[in-house]
Amino acid sequence: MTNNIYLIANWKMYGSIKSVNSINKVIQLSKKPLLKNINIVYCPPFTLSHIFAKKLKNSKINVGAQDCYIHHDTGPFTGNISAKQLKNIGLKYVILGHSEKRNDGDTNKIINKKIFAAIKNKLKVILCIGEKYEENIKKLTIKTLKKQINDCLKNIPKKNVIFIAYEPVWSIGTGLIPKNEDLEKIIKKIRTIVLKEKKFINSKFLYGGSVNEKNIKNLTKIKGLNGFLIGGASQNSNKFIDIVKKTII
Ligand code: PEP
Repeated sequence: MTNNIYLIANWKMYGSIKSVNSINKVIQLSKKPLLKNINIVYCPPFTLSHIFAKKLKNSKINVGAQDCYIHHDTGPFTGNISAKQLKNIGLKYVILGHSEKRNDGDTNKIINKKIFAAIKNKLKVILCIGEKYEENIKKLTIKTLKKQINDCLKNIPKKNVIFIAYEPVWSIGTGLIPKNEDLEKIIKKIRTIVLKEKKFINSKFLYGGSVNEKNIKNLTKIKGLNGFLIGGASQNSNKFIDIVKKTII
């Protein structure tokens, strides 16, 4: 692991007004000097974005969205939310290309447009990439990742810092995690592909997929990782606090 660690909490389509106060304990913890190198980013559903942004405004915890629309501004696009609107309520990050959005129809081309919209509004992009189980079995992992990276980042100005979250689709919500040695090799390869031709030089590399309070300690041993994208386990503050503590100690 690197010194500066990012923990991205993806609440997916969970959480209600009642659950907002459950993060109070995490806010208290984030004030401790021990956490100075830990960057927590909550990505709640859109219905809670504003309330999270207001609640976390004076804390060191940031807020992100789980998606944004392809058009960067505002306009007659019923049912969509733009990067500009996210920025307007104080959000700093946006997750793009999550496999659950790819399942809804987001292609690399669409994700590329969303990345343009996000960076135009100075949102930090957390780009999810990952192979499906069949691709993994057929040893197509690197080929799949390379295509996702190259297509999603096509023509994106190279000065941008991109957060690349490697999330094998077969690991999300399943309890299955690649071995540390395999993850280390894949992260190294991803890093080489992303940073090729001196592009995106300050980018960060994360792992996501069934990270929890029981396996985090072992995962922190992986070299070259800048942090984790955590779904299920981030929605329970006690588990999330356990994860945060085990990341530092
Ligand atoms: C995710 O939502 O990106 C994710 C990795 O979920 P989980 O931690 O539940 O596998």
